[in-house]
Amino acid sequence: MVSINKEKCIGCGTCAAVCPEGFEIKGGKAVVKNGNASCIKEAKESCPVDAIKI
Ligand code: SF4
Repeated sequence: MVSINKEKCIGCGTCAAVCPEGFEIKGGKAVVKNGNASCIKEAKESCPVDAIKI
């Protein structure tokens, strides 16, 4: 189960850039599109504020 900590997320878009299958930016925050995408872990590691939980 993948989730975004909306309080931490700064909407930088890195997760959606690294993993467009898994994330998108909506209303200035990241949302999970597909928690089973193979790039989820890479996106988690790329988040500057550690807002992605797996
Ligand atoms: S990389 Fe992190 S801070 Fe940036 S949009 Fe994604 S969840 Fe938010």
